[in-house]
Amino acid sequence: MTFTPHGKHLIAGEWVATEQTFQSEPATGPVHSFSVGTVDLVNRACEAAEDAFWSYGYSSREERALFLEAIADEIEARADAITQIGSQETGLPEARLQGERGRTTGQLRLFASHIRKGDYLDRRFDAAMPDRKPAPRPELRLVERPIGPVAVFGASNFPLAFSTAGGDTAAALAAGCPVVVKGHSAHPGTGEIVAEAVAAAIAKCGLHPGVFSLIQGGRRDVGTALVQHPFIKAVGFTGSLAGGRALFDLCAQRPEPIPFFGELGSVNPMFLLPEAMAARAEELGTGWAGSLTMGAGQFCTNPGISVVIDGPDADRYTAAAKAGLEKVGAQTMLTDGIAKAYRDGKERFESRNSVTPVYTTESADRVANPNLYETTAEAYLQDHALGEEVFGPLGLVVRVADVDEMVKLAKGFEGQLTTTLHMDAGDLDDALKLRPILERKAGRVMVNGFPTGVEVVDSMVHGGPYPASTNFGATSVGTLSIRRFLRPVSYQNFPEALLPEDLRG
Ligand code: NAP
Repeated sequence: MTFTPHGKHLIAGEWVATEQTFQSEPATGPVHSFSVGTVDLVNRACEAAEDAFWSYGYSSREERALFLEAIADEIEARADAITQIGSQETGLPEARLQGERGRTTGQLRLFASHIRKGDYLDRRFDAAMPDRKPAPRPELRLVERPIGPVAVFGASNFPLAFSTAGGDTAAALAAGCPVVVKGHSAHPGTGEIVAEAVAAAIAKCGLHPGVFSLIQGGRRDVGTALVQHPFIKAVGFTGSLAGGRALFDLCAQRPEPIPFFGELGSVNPMFLLPEAMAARAEELGTGWAGSLTMGAGQFCTNPGISVVIDGPDADRYTAAAKAGLEKVGAQTMLTDGIAKAYRDGKERFESRNSVTPVYTTESADRVANPNLYETTAEAYLQDHALGEEVFGPLGLVVRVADVDEMVKLAKGFEGQLTTTLHMDAGDLDDALKLRPILERKAGRVMVNGFPTGVEVVDSMVHGGPYPASTNFGATSVGTLSIRRFLRPVSYQNFPEALLPEDLRG
C-alpha cells in the first residue's frame, strides 16, 4: 500500500491547508509538500481543545480506554503505509519502524488498562468527625482530575512512539486531556497518517473532534504560540536542550505559568568497576560499541560516556570498543540538521588538547560514522562542554585514577536520564559508595546492562534532574507519566450525587 500525504493539518476533525508550503526532506523516496503551520491554526486548535475538554474531561474511564484501544486498532490498520512513509522520512530501517509501531500501540493499550484499574486516581477519604473538639472535622475526599488541553511536541528520533500518538499523547488522552500536537518537520507524512488514525478513532467513538489536532511545522512561531496559548495547561516535549529551554522559559513567563515537561539531553554515563573489568573488559567494550551505535546513536539513553580506572583493563576495554566501532558502517541520520550537529560535536572534541582520539572517522551529508575519544577525570571536570550530549554514535572514555576519583567525577555530572554500574560481586563496596550519588543524578539507575532500550511499564522512570528533564518529579515513559497531566482536587463535605463519578460509591 502506497501512502501519498495530502500535506494538510488536522484541526478538530477538519483537514486544513494554508497558503505556504514546505517540502519534506526524506532520507529516501519522494519529496512531498506540506502546508506550513500558522498562529491562526494554533488558536483554532486550542479553542476546539478547550471546547472538547468540557465533554472529554468528564468522560468515563471506560470511554477513554475504548478510545485509546481504537487509536491502536486504527494505527494497525495502516501498518504498512506507516512503515513505508516513516522509513522514507527518517531513514530508520523498516524493522525498527515496525517495532516502534508495536511499542506505540502497546502503550496506548497499556494506558487503557491502566485507567480501567483506576489506581492512578489516588483516591483518598478522610471521614467526618462531627464530635471532634474544639472543632468538628468535615468529610474530605481526594481524586486526581485532568488538567485541560495539553500541547505535545513530536520527537524527531521516535517518529511513532514519541510523536503524534506517542507516549505524551497517550498519557494526556488517558488522563482526559485533549491534545494539540506540533508535528516534527522531520516526519510530517508519518504525522499525517497517524493523525488520520486518531481522527478515525474519534469518529468511531463519537467524541468531540477537538480532542485531537495536529499542526505541521515549518515556522517557529507555531511552537511559541502553542506553549503560550491560554487554553494550554501543560506541554510534553522531547528534543534539544536549546529548543526545550527556550519553550520552557516561555511557559514560565506566561501570565499563568504552566508546567513544561521537557526531556532534553543526557550523556548516560556508565561506571565500570574493577572486578567486572578484570573479568570481562573486552565483552563490556564490545557491548558498549553496540549500544553506542544502535540507531546511529540517536537515542536519548545512548551511553556516551564510560568511566574506567586507568590501567591494562581500561586499555582492553577501549581496544574492544574501538574494534566494535570499526565494524559499524555509515548510518543515515534522522535529519540533515542532526547530522550537522553530530559533526559539530565531533569538532568540539577534536578542538581540545585534553581529548585524545582513539578512533576517528569522517562523516558527510546525512550519514554518521562512529567516533571514540579519551580524556581524564581532571580534564572532564574542568571542561563543561565535554559533558554536553553529542547526539549520535560518539563515545568518550574518561580514565580515573581510582574509585575515589570515580566518586568525585560522579558528583560532578549534571542530571541524567540514566546512569549504569557494571559490577561483579566483589565490587559491592565500591558500588555502595557510588549508588547514593548516582540516584541523585538520574531517573533510572541500572546494573550490568546498557541503557538503550526503555521498557514501557509501571516502574519505568524516563526523566531525571535538569538538563535530562525540566521536571525531575516526572517521567515521560511508563504509566506514571499520566501524573503529569493530572492535578489533585479535594472535595469537602460533598453530597454523594455531586461528587465526580470516580469518587462515588
Ligand atoms: P529540536 O530542535 O529541539 O526541535 C524539537 C521541536 O521543538 C521541533 O518541533 C521544533 O520545531 C521545536 N522547537 C525547537 N526550538 C524551538 C523554539 N526556539 N521555538 C519554537 N519551537 C522550537 O530537536 P530536534 O529537531 O529533534 O533535534 C535537534 C537536536 O535535539 C539533536 O541534534 C539532539 O541533540 C537533540 N535531541 C535530543 C533528544 C533526546 O532524546 N534527548 C531527542 C531528539 C533530539 P521546528 O521543527 O519547527 O524547528
